[in-house]
Amino acid sequence: MAQPTPLFNRLALIGVGLIGSSIARAARAQGAVREIVATARTAATRRRVAELGLADQVVESNGAAATGADLVIVCAPVGVCGEIAKEIAPQLKRGAIVSDVGSVKTAIVRDMAPHLPPGVHFVPAHPVAGTEHSGPDAGFAELFVGRWCILTPPEGTDAAAVDKLAAFWRMLGANVETMASPEHHDLVLAITSHLPHLIAYTIVGTADELAEVTRSEVLKFSAGGFRDFTRIAASDPTMWRDVFLANKDAVLEMLGTFNEDLSQLTRAIRRGDGEALFEHFARTRAIRRGIVEIGQDSPAPDFGRAHPGLPDAPLPRPYAVSDET
Ligand code: NAP
Repeated sequence: MAQPTPLFNRLALIGVGLIGSSIARAARAQGAVREIVATARTAATRRRVAELGLADQVVESNGAAATGADLVIVCAPVGVCGEIAKEIAPQLKRGAIVSDVGSVKTAIVRDMAPHLPPGVHFVPAHPVAGTEHSGPDAGFAELFVGRWCILTPPEGTDAAAVDKLAAFWRMLGANVETMASPEHHDLVLAITSHLPHLIAYTIVGTADELAEVTRSEVLKFSAGGFRDFTRIAASDPTMWRDVFLANKDAVLEMLGTFNEDLSQLTRAIRRGDGEALFEHFARTRAIRRGIVEIGQDSPAPDFGRAHPGLPDAPLPRPYAVSDET
């Protein structure tokens, strides 16, 4: 099969954790770029990136990574992206595209845009894909396949640069959507991602605060639903601290609505209003079916977990069928 033409000569990845290393793996596998230069905050991560062979060059500073790059993607926690933009600004080549992968967009635009020089195209992006793992070992090339990548280019951004970044994400397997404003992105993500994480962090924290004896039973009987929250609550603390600090207004707005709905359900339980509970649960079940129907999750029950086979021990005496006549 003919090799695809790379979209960019040199891709610089600033931050090579779950998302950065997945981009590196996917861009390589798809031939989306000719060369990858990478860096990370600590020497330990840079060493690991080199050991894994994720980049053609691993360099020691953000400025060195950005030098001569056609596409720079900042894949670091939201809270440090402004500082990184300031560091790389003097090294950026005219015509380069600068992007990011932050889970929040208003704060990214506010913090990064003022540092970027004229002649550089800033196209913020958010791949809506992830796992609860972090670091360069956690990434995989297929992470973005069938997932959405949302672009929020500021008004007046060069359309060709937006199209080129969209083509890059499509090459990595993502569906691309452009949103009119970073504020709109943050409101949508507050309900679809940020609030669910906050609820998971709350439930798991509450269980942890229960008396010692109850806590061990919470863990033991976690398959009753609790363990599905623990996966989300195991997500990276730095990343999520930054998300809630950066998306404060939208999260507080959604939390207000959530608290009202929780009060309604609380009232239904207190009053023994089975009809209200049934109607609510039937509606939410349909939403789950809708997500499966549009291919955003697998139809396999229990999230497709493997279930161990039955024990092959013989049945206990009174039930065993005897050969004896
Ligand atoms: P991660 O696995 O913790 O990786 C973060 C990377 O950023 C590490 O390589 C870290 O280097 C580097 N870094 C931190 N500060 C830096 C600095 N000042 N200069 C250069 N590099 C720096 O995090 P991640 O999950 O990939 O998340 C990265 C971004 O993707 C975040 O903005 C997050 O909001 C967004 N995102 C995450 C997910 C998800 O599910 N995880 C999904 C979509 C978007 P060290 O290892 O040396 O500290």
